[in-house]
Amino acid sequence: MAGRNFLFVPGPTNVPDRVLRAMMVSMEDHRSPTFPVLTRTILPGLKKVFRTEHGTPFVFPSSGTGCWEAAIANTLSPGDKVLAARFGQFSHLWIAMCQKFGLDVQIVDADWGTGVPLEQYADILRKDTQHQIKAVLACHNETATGVTSDIGAVRKVLNDAKHPALLFVDAVSSLGSIDFRFDDWGVDMAVSGSQKGLMLPAGLGIMCASQKALDMHAQAKLPRAYFDLQDMMASNQTGYFPYTPALSLMYGLVESLKMIEEEGLDNIIARHHYLAEGTRAAITQGWGMKLCAADPKWYSDTVSAVMVPEGINGADVISRAYKRYNVSLGAGLSKVAGKLFRIGHLGDMNEVHLMSGIAGAEMAMLDCGIKVQPGSGVGAASDYWRKHRAPVGLDQHAQDQVVLQKAA
Ligand SMILES: *Cc1c(COP(=O)(O)O)cnc(C)c1O
Repeated sequence: MAGRNFLFVPGPTNVPDRVLRAMMVSMEDHRSPTFPVLTRTILPGLKKVFRTEHGTPFVFPSSGTGCWEAAIANTLSPGDKVLAARFGQFSHLWIAMCQKFGLDVQIVDADWGTGVPLEQYADILRKDTQHQIKAVLACHNETATGVTSDIGAVRKVLNDAKHPALLFVDAVSSLGSIDFRFDDWGVDMAVSGSQKGLMLPAGLGIMCASQKALDMHAQAKLPRAYFDLQDMMASNQTGYFPYTPALSLMYGLVESLKMIEEEGLDNIIARHHYLAEGTRAAITQGWGMKLCAADPKWYSDTVSAVMVPEGINGADVISRAYKRYNVSLGAGLSKVAGKLFRIGHLGDMNEVHLMSGIAGAEMAMLDCGIKVQPGSGVGAASDYWRKHRAPVGLDQHAQDQVVLQKAA
């Protein structure tokens, strides 16, 4: 097919050319005397992205799911009680994994389109006076529904209840794109992956552990082998890995960390919000359609899930967009299969790039019989973006000013 594919799934995301080039490296000896330079570039760089001074970052050759496992297996024992909320496919899958590990999961089911139910968490934790709950799980950004939860508020709920449970956060589709604060929010285990905000191919599981979480290792009785954090830490301390690391991806990570440093994490977060606002303008004002997120407080700045009208199958829109316009949209998963499609707007993205996804989705919807006004989504997005001040990462003029100020 002529032209390029436009990738709007919320992971894997678009890999910048700079990062692609950085990964084109000959293989090398990962036990060489100079190899630790790479390890000692990546791990401190990741701490900045997690916004932690005290946490310990980890890089596994796995996807994000591997780090879900690492978080559980290194801290908990069979039969331990954990508290988790289910409001989308990803929060569901982490719960399912806990159950496979023989944990006793207290599940709070919340409507898909909402996020972590703070009041229920508060109530349950307050009543758990014996402190049987060992860990509290929270999915920061539920990618299946486009919902972001308030992790700082979850920490407050734990503190108010004076509850010592560990706080585990799935930050797979928020790290490096939505504000995430490991230290400020007292997170104990933060789990992420390479193929979303970090703009890399899939293949690195990336996580961060607090000292409190690491201290649980000795007493935690769940089986762990490949994902043993102590083995990883022991090797990392010498600058190496316990087994062959994913070398090319790690060189890509060096480059993406450089890009994050250059743009600035705050600017990146602002850019994601600005791009998300334009997308939401297209969906709600332009097309007059609804987001899956039930209230603005849940809006995700990395992915928007668009509810399709009754009688229309969202999968048809996605298929049409792909086959006819070479635009890849995200599918509705499990409970919301067919009911929505998703536009991922995270990672390496700007307005005009995002316009192509909005335009492709709009044409596909029209072809599938959804009566939106042609051009209305693109029009609403362009109105939003032109009327609001662009974050520095999208404005060459503003960037030039920054460079000039630094030079002065
Ligand atoms: C993508 C994603 C995962 C799964 O990560 P993999 O890298 O596919 O294993 C987990 N949680 C959330 C919120 C995600 O978006």
